Amino acid sequence: MLTGTIFDIKEFAVFDGPGMRQTVFFKGCPLRCSWCHNPEGLCMQPQLMVSHASCTDCGRCRAVCQHETCIACGACVAVCPLRLRKIAGEAVSSEELVRRIRKNASYYARYGGGVTFSGGEPFMQHAFLLEVLKQIPDLHRAIETSGFCDQAVFEEVVRHLDYVMMDLKIFDEEKHLRYTGVSNQKILENARQLCSSDTPFVIRIPVIPGVNDNEENYRATAEFLQGAKALQKVELLPYHKTAGAKYSMLGMEYQPDFDPEAAVQTSAKLFAEYGIACEVL
Ligand code: SF4
Ligand code: SF4
Repeated sequence: MLTGTIFDIKEFAVFDGPGMRQTVFFKGCPLRCSWCHNPEGLCMQPQLMVSHASCTDCGRCRAVCQHETCIACGACVAVCPLRLRKIAGEAVSSEELVRRIRKNASYYARYGGGVTFSGGEPFMQHAFLLEVLKQIPDLHRAIETSGFCDQAVFEEVVRHLDYVMMDLKIFDEEKHLRYTGVSNQKILENARQLCSSDTPFVIRIPVIPGVNDNEENYRATAEFLQGAKALQKVELLPYHKTAGAKYSMLGMEYQPDFDPEAAVQTSAKLFAEYGIACEVL
């Protein structure tokens, strides 16, 4: 039995696939998008998060800490009277995760939903993910992914999914590399595979001011997707200025390499020209 690392299970999710769902957040991501709003999903290891705003400097956390450098042991979490501390990241066996998913599964099924695997990037822990998926074939199983993984892995995991939500962040390879830290070649290969499959899928574009919110990018994406039989829609997700809120909780600095104050340009109409439904969320 495999063990994975997750950092949250969100209940009653309504934007993570059809119906009402529970969303499991996997830790670890190979991309480094500077607009990421889930920085606790980036590294695989558990991390301490501290909300400094209302700290009274009572010193209880410092008194119990036995380590010069934080090892995310969690000892200080229990002693904070204001509950300002938490550990993001928990090791769970596939059996335990399935047990937690199944606990409320019939409720979500009644509302046309199921379970969604998100992150971080769930494909970073693909063997664990697969082991979980194989134990819940009766549930509606969806994924939110960057699509960055080897083609054989992608194909195998998608065989055990009912719905895929995948990002196509930037169509131009050089720009993709510059803004996310990786080439988009594997992502496009996997998207091509989805375009010829029968698995219902949604393409999501996080709309980042001055980075990908231009006609050239939208048109290249629309041309690529045109005619995909199981494509449900394209969703444009405009950048939110609050994206950097969690960085200071992790002791990280939020450093967007674009102008976060600039207005984003969306173009739902352009996708309609290609016969593709498009929503701006
Ligand atoms: S989690 Fe808290 S107690 Fe544990 S090492 Fe980090 S700061 Fe110290
Ligand atoms: S225990 Fe909580 S309130 Fe007290 S210093 Fe630590 S973080 Fe601040």
